[in-house]
Amino acid sequence: MTDASTTADPADDTGDAPRDFIRDIVHGDLEAGKHAGVVTRFPPEPNGYLHIGHAKSICLNFGIAEETGGRCHLRFDDTNPAKEEQRYIDAIQEDVRWLGFDWGEHLFHASDYFEQLFQWAEHLIGQGLAYVDDQSAEAMRESRGTLTAPGTNSPFRDRTPEENLELFQAMRAGDFPDGARVLRAKIDMAAPNINLRDPVLYRIIHAPHPRTGDAWSIYPTYDFAHGQSDALEGITHSLCTLEFEDHRPLYEWLIENLPVPSAPKQYEFARLNLSHTVLSKRKLIQLVEDGHVTGWDDPRLPTLAGLRRRGVPPEGLRAFIRQIGVSKVDSVVDLAMLNAALREHLNRVASRRMGVLRPLKLVIDTWPEGEVDWLDAINNPQDDTAGSRKVPFGRELWIEQDDFMEDAPRKYFRLTPGQEVRLRYGYLVTCTDVVKDADGNVIEVHATHDPDSRGGNAPDGRKVRGTIHWVSAEHGVAAEVRLIDHLFTSEQPGAGGADPLDDLNPAALEVLTGCWLEPALADATPAASGGETVQFERLGYFTADPDGSPASPVFIRTVGLRDTWAKVAAKGAS
Ligand code: ATP
Ligand code: MG
Repeated sequence: MTDASTTADPADDTGDAPRDFIRDIVHGDLEAGKHAGVVTRFPPEPNGYLHIGHAKSICLNFGIAEETGGRCHLRFDDTNPAKEEQRYIDAIQEDVRWLGFDWGEHLFHASDYFEQLFQWAEHLIGQGLAYVDDQSAEAMRESRGTLTAPGTNSPFRDRTPEENLELFQAMRAGDFPDGARVLRAKIDMAAPNINLRDPVLYRIIHAPHPRTGDAWSIYPTYDFAHGQSDALEGITHSLCTLEFEDHRPLYEWLIENLPVPSAPKQYEFARLNLSHTVLSKRKLIQLVEDGHVTGWDDPRLPTLAGLRRRGVPPEGLRAFIRQIGVSKVDSVVDLAMLNAALREHLNRVASRRMGVLRPLKLVIDTWPEGEVDWLDAINNPQDDTAGSRKVPFGRELWIEQDDFMEDAPRKYFRLTPGQEVRLRYGYLVTCTDVVKDADGNVIEVHATHDPDSRGGNAPDGRKVRGTIHWVSAEHGVAAEVRLIDHLFTSEQPGAGGADPLDDLNPAALEVLTGCWLEPALADATPAASGGETVQFERLGYFTADPDGSPASPVFIRTVGLRDTWAKVAAKGAS
């Protein structure tokens, strides 16, 4: 095992993760001989798509299993058929695999254990440790007490085990409507921890279950299903987020009072919170269902499907998760940190290409009409094995509007009348003239070139400071390009009870049409279908979007080359 000092490269996502308090506990238990092997689980509820917060939990659970030669189960916490769907079950599996993890044959469902859980509920009833309560949900809420006041006993609390058993079996048989009765643990209505005030173990839900169909009319709660599922699977370390800390005494009470085959332990860590977005399935569902985004894979969303479509490589995401670490203190991670981790990774692996997003025509008057020069362009200066490609150069090119200025300040090194610049991989050109429309806008720039500067350097060694990118007008591929910004304008949307929808960033998606890309990009495969995320030189990282086609390609920006947002934020703060 390694320690934190061996993972110096922040873009690295290979080998063991740095130690954290959870890993310390796991390794301590192994060294003390407590377990023959480590068994963890990732337990999603299939009521929505996974988001980047889940990625933290996935990397932790699967990562620890990998590092210790143990195993990690994928277990669906499918205990509420009113909200769960098969399409979510399928999407979750796809997302975990995409992130780079494999549960092998260890795919489980809480619903696999419904019969066993029912028998254990009967066991509690038999021991006088559970009872059927006929109170309404409202009455139950009122009698639960508060943080400072104890609760009061239900009038149904002292039913005999026989009566409870009969009622519980009738609940199972479907004799009562939704909400008519619940099964509660009989613990202590005056317990300081509200989770121990006779928590609900089973509720009546008449809804078809994706796996068990109409077999059940009652379903166990998370609290009853979770720890017992852990015990049945021999989970050694049950890792969850801090909001379950107060549930731990209940988790332990159930394990102690049931004849379960093993005694797993629960540990809590801080959930991932990310600035300028929401990481709550409830809020994400609202964005999707109310049409604020185009679907679960909308690239503005922090869902794994959205990140994948945006071109985020799983390795980059894992490197980010590794960088943020695991602790017991809740915090908000700045989105800029995710972007920096992605950039760091993509800079190493992404092929370079040229594309012009806001085109301006450049005509090289000294270039022979109809002549094409196929220039060598290096694919990735960070990777010698990536080789090079041929890029066509001709008399008419597209350049960025930004890269030309008629009246330029002294330190403007790009194209301006009388100044020489380097066309990337190509020739040195000097601007000689401009063409304007009736309103005085520059619509075409004219230049001459130095025929001896092929490859970008003058034979006499004269200094040329500016280098700009370009696309041959004759060969370029017309494309739509979508720029993605953060989904919410505020750092913590919905903080302090505000409606997060009020903070939606109208500029989160900017669609540019009439862009020009080098021909190598014509039939690129979207990252979401296994294709590449490439760097458009000087513009950022991009991938093809599935909305496009070879006839009319669409690209999407994964992340820019630097965080203009972080700069703006820093300026605002100073
Ligand atoms: P949400 O709060 O978005 O509805 P959830 O916790 O209800 O999410 P589950 O499907 O129950 O979603 O989560 C599966 C696992 O992922 C749980 O162990 C949960 O603790 C963990 N998890 C969920 N959100 C985060 C997060 N933001 N950071 C780290 N782990 C998370
Ligand atoms: Mg949950």
